[in-house]
Amino acid sequence: MRSKDFFQIIKKIGNSTSLRPIKFKNILIGRAMCGIVGYIGAKSAAGLIVNGLKRLEYRGYDSAGVVTVEDDGLYVEKCEGKVAELDRRVKYGELRATLGVGHTRWATHGAPTDANAHPHTDNSGAIAIVHNGIIENHAAIKSKLSEKGYIFRSETDSEVLAVLIGCHYERLRNLEEAARAALSEIEGTFGLAMVSSHDRDILIVARRGSPIVIGMGEGEYIAASDASAIIQHTRQVIYLEDNEMAVIRRGGCLTKTIQNVATKGKIHELDYDVESIEKGGFAHFMLKEIYEQPTSFRDAMRGRLMVEDGNVKLGGLRLVEDKIRNAKRLILLGCGTAWHAGLAGEYMLERLAKIPVEVEYASEFRYRNPIISADDVVIAISQSGETADTLAALREAKLKGATILGVVNVVGSTIARSTDAGVYIHAGPEIGVASTKAFTSQLAALALLALYLGRMHSLSQLEGSMIAEALRTIPEKIQFILDHAESVRSIAQEYAKADNFFFLGRGANFPVALEGALKLKEISYINAQGYPAAEMKHGPIALIDDKTPALFIVPKDELYEKTLSNIEEVRARGGRIIAIAGEGDTHIQKLAESVIYIPNTLPILQPILATIPLQLLAYYIAVERGTNVDMPRNLAKSVTVE
Ligand code: GLU
Repeated sequence: MRSKDFFQIIKKIGNSTSLRPIKFKNILIGRAMCGIVGYIGAKSAAGLIVNGLKRLEYRGYDSAGVVTVEDDGLYVEKCEGKVAELDRRVKYGELRATLGVGHTRWATHGAPTDANAHPHTDNSGAIAIVHNGIIENHAAIKSKLSEKGYIFRSETDSEVLAVLIGCHYERLRNLEEAARAALSEIEGTFGLAMVSSHDRDILIVARRGSPIVIGMGEGEYIAASDASAIIQHTRQVIYLEDNEMAVIRRGGCLTKTIQNVATKGKIHELDYDVESIEKGGFAHFMLKEIYEQPTSFRDAMRGRLMVEDGNVKLGGLRLVEDKIRNAKRLILLGCGTAWHAGLAGEYMLERLAKIPVEVEYASEFRYRNPIISADDVVIAISQSGETADTLAALREAKLKGATILGVVNVVGSTIARSTDAGVYIHAGPEIGVASTKAFTSQLAALALLALYLGRMHSLSQLEGSMIAEALRTIPEKIQFILDHAESVRSIAQEYAKADNFFFLGRGANFPVALEGALKLKEISYINAQGYPAAEMKHGPIALIDDKTPALFIVPKDELYEKTLSNIEEVRARGGRIIAIAGEGDTHIQKLAESVIYIPNTLPILQPILATIPLQLLAYYIAVERGTNVDMPRNLAKSVTVE
């Protein structure tokens, strides 16, 4: 990705105002799965922390908890469900502590239950932590600690960190050093806050990948995963950098690296309102989630991709490995965007695993009395894990003896619990009704699955390595597209008044065309159709006129020349062409009015990159048309009715 004009539009560049989100230092870098609030000062901590958690509710979460450091030890209250339930349970009347931390959890490891909710304590019960993120090597550490006799009360990765800190404390007798030793051992991401009854004047926070902000009041500090929990107390804040920790006492706050080198925590003045903080500086949650995709895509692969071995580790499939290996057919089920992910997955799975794949609308599948055998593996794809149609379809398949897998975002959801095994996509909470990051994370999970199955069958290590390496670089390529989003916005302004829109692609890019059309329909209410490009001449081309834009996804793959002919056919009928093309393709400029360039990658992964400009296009067109982007009319985020 060299050329400065890599991402350009031919003809007409609109006079758009700046696209850049307001520059919030660090808020845009890293992503908290869920919420953290910590307090040390002179006020009663419990109420203040629970109120802070209420400010973080907008993120979506499944459990909440708080710990305060009382005179006689730690007071811990935690539960599955809402902060209001936590609030009801906390015995405020009995609490005096002026130090504590709280958490809203969005489960990644272990279902949302009281036991899995944070805080988690070490085995002595004297050290408590709350954690955002994912600890990749939790299983290895857990088994080492178990051998030494340590016990675990939850299924979370986070508890492993709490117990590990406790283990180091026994040796070091120093909280800060124990935290440092444990954090140096773990792989993965964390936003961490920790308190202990060993010392009632210390709050330790640390960050790698999940943001932590420290608010500085008069003789008090409020640390949180985002500033919306801080802003009503103070506007003076320090943002922790990656691999930094802060040791906070009532008398002062010291920042240093996790390796114990002092750093200069720079103080910033918060000058934005709560609403813009919640959206991380973006105008809408949807745009925020579009921009989160380099991170969410990386999170979907975290701890799973083994580039050198050319293979994939999917812990969630261990128990059904033989069933999967012997599958005669894969059936992918989904609705809406998840169905599109299934269609894109079909290309990857058939290409790499060489197993026949069928993709079905979940809603149709169950009423068709489908022919299913015990050799079939059915994969249910659902962001929420609660989609009623998908759930009913997978139950039908289960009844008929198939092995059922889930590709799900929400841990512990009904679909996750109803399947034999599965792959969580770890996209984090998605708030915008129109799905964006969950779609690309579903593609990530399906790509991993395809590689995993491929390596079980005919794919060589060398081929596997090549694909794994290509997957590894996808996040930076997504980032590159996002960095050049301004050009998509100009195109959006140009076409925002269209009444009809075509999205066309071939092969693996046909599902992307469908998804691009769906995004536009969902949030801009423009009638948009997705078609395989070659199908146009069999009917839909009758709709083409000079007011109808036709967007072609036309990367340089084996269908490139054929797609060019399809472009010519539309051009000949006066259609206006927008092309999503591969880097370096200058020829396309002669055929298209506007070109959006995307980085090249392997053809089976190209759909992932092609998706990003289509999300941006739908978003900017909707903004131009003044619709309610995050909550479009007539739609619900998770469709729990048939
Ligand atoms: N991985 C942790 C868990 O599943 C933390 C999740 C979060 O960030 O809320 O408990």
